[in-house]
Amino acid sequence: MPLTSERVLEALRTVRDPDLGKDLVTLGMVKRHDVEGPKVLITVELTTPACPMKDRIRNDIEQAVKDAARETAHQVDSIEVEFTADVRRPNEKTQDGDSPLPGVRQIIAVGAGKGGVGKSTIATNLAVGLARHGARVGLLDGDIYGPSLPTMLGLEDVQVVAHGSMLLPFEVHGIKAMSIGKLVEPDKALIWRGPMAHGAFKQLALQTEWDELDYLIVDLPPGTGDVPLTLAQLLPLTGAVVVCTPQQVAQDDARRAVRMFESLGVEILGIIENMSYFVGDDGKEYDLFGRGGAELLAKTMDLHYLGGIPITQNLRINSDRGTPIANWDDPELAVALDAMVTQTASRISVVSIQGKFQMPTISVS
Ligand code: ADP
Repeated sequence: MPLTSERVLEALRTVRDPDLGKDLVTLGMVKRHDVEGPKVLITVELTTPACPMKDRIRNDIEQAVKDAARETAHQVDSIEVEFTADVRRPNEKTQDGDSPLPGVRQIIAVGAGKGGVGKSTIATNLAVGLARHGARVGLLDGDIYGPSLPTMLGLEDVQVVAHGSMLLPFEVHGIKAMSIGKLVEPDKALIWRGPMAHGAFKQLALQTEWDELDYLIVDLPPGTGDVPLTLAQLLPLTGAVVVCTPQQVAQDDARRAVRMFESLGVEILGIIENMSYFVGDDGKEYDLFGRGGAELLAKTMDLHYLGGIPITQNLRINSDRGTPIANWDDPELAVALDAMVTQTASRISVVSIQGKFQMPTISVS
């Protein structure tokens, strides 16, 4: 009995996406399942190009097809598994024009309990990291009181270009970016009061021509002020990432940020520990701030831990120079960044597929 395309599909029903917890067929991910003589050709459409489970899925597919081939006594010489990706929207709701940014599939906030923990650094590298995997990514500098993206992205010498009433985002390092820091004097941004902050953020988010994006990463101001509230009311957020350093005092601030997002009805995607540890010239890792503090916080709050980024001179230098892409030239840093990027992408997919997403109900106490 030859191995048929139908029998291959049946075999793929036994392969689960480890993150999404369902089989590839049920998830609608199998786009091709052909048998051409001794060759089996499979195409799987992932929910993110930054999927951390590709190797495992490939292995499981190969095993399932080999088992099916053995059962049918069909000679299979090669199993070619091709991966494509289509980032899905969080739910049906945003598909029918509900969102003021209909071309944007996933909107992710990056917040922190206080300033200086590396929130903008994480937002920048998350955006650039997702783009490196092939996603279409936007980065919105919502930190209107202290925008640092003009420096971190090297935007000092580029000019703002308007298209009618819309601003064109800056296309740099494989992403599209917009920052209030390019529209007003940085000193002015610092003194904005509530309603002005609300208006400025709204304009920045809605009057930028983002076009089609898989992910829009929003770098929020630190703390629990007006901008997160505006953002949650304005846009259908998939969730928020909270950046934290390992020390106890930083954890207390991060806990407050988590509570704020929860009170806004925003799903917490997870916690990222920045300045987790320091790697010396001797190759030894030093736990300057108490590595693991944020991971512990995640555990006690029943949240996902999305990875730790070390303190490295390269990260600081590349942030100051506006060359985030160069962070991937440092092998150790690249591994840590990529783990954070893929874990976050995976959580975004899981939250979207689970349909946990809902428009926020505002209940600020
Ligand atoms: P926040 O947005 O939380 O205020 P930033 O992202 O602006 O913090 O980071 C503050 C400073 O710390 C910047 O100069 C940045 O380059 C540096 N920095 C952040 N994270 C790291 C790190 N892991 N290693 C080295 N320097 C870092």
